Amino acid sequence: MSGKKGILFVVSAPSGGGKGTILKRVFNDKSKVYYSVSATTRKPRDEDTDGVTYHFLSREEFEKRIKENDFLEYVEYCGNYYGTPKSEIVKNLSSGKDVVLEIETEGAFNVKKAMPEAVLIFIIPPSVTELRRRLEKRGTEDKETIDKRMRQAINEIRLAGKYDYIVINGELEEAVADFSAVCKAARIKQDAENIINEVLENA
Ligand code: 5GP
Repeated sequence: MSGKKGILFVVSAPSGGGKGTILKRVFNDKSKVYYSVSATTRKPRDEDTDGVTYHFLSREEFEKRIKENDFLEYVEYCGNYYGTPKSEIVKNLSSGKDVVLEIETEGAFNVKKAMPEAVLIFIIPPSVTELRRRLEKRGTEDKETIDKRMRQAINEIRLAGKYDYIVINGELEEAVADFSAVCKAARIKQDAENIINEVLENA
């Protein structure tokens, strides 16, 4: 018997997209979902905890792990490496847990290539005006940085059409409901596939 397999959800959003709040609401039962902890060479920020938000590695350590084939995918993004450790993902999926990756677009497409059954979800802000408002609201960045982030966000949004699903993050309750509907659809499909596999294995 193959057993129940979890679903791999790959979620991307441009900064200001507001994915964190939605994900916390949708995947609130930690016993059923594993949040992947990426490795990175970027410097920790105040809000970071090693081993929780990221595994912080030196470039040498990261490159050693690339050679050892430890990553499901990795990219160089804004001058730093970011990578998804493979073994935890495979282990959790085969134990029946869903897995969530919060990664950028290039990595998301590489995951889809390696694991076509992954469900790619892109979260977009409802408008360019709202995106700018959200970036400005943080109040920590100057105009030049905000303009740069806006351009970067728009470039990422160009790729949203290649994802399996797009969720618009306008009104929070609506976005949570839409995201949950997408997860439900994916779960129905996965449950059916689990049954089909079991039937075929026992036929
Ligand atoms: P930050 O430095 O702001 O934490 O992350 C920068 C970008 O890297 C975000 O879009 C984040 O989703 C993405 N990211 C984080 N971990 C990974 C990873 O393991 N692989 C890829 N491809 N992107 C990642």
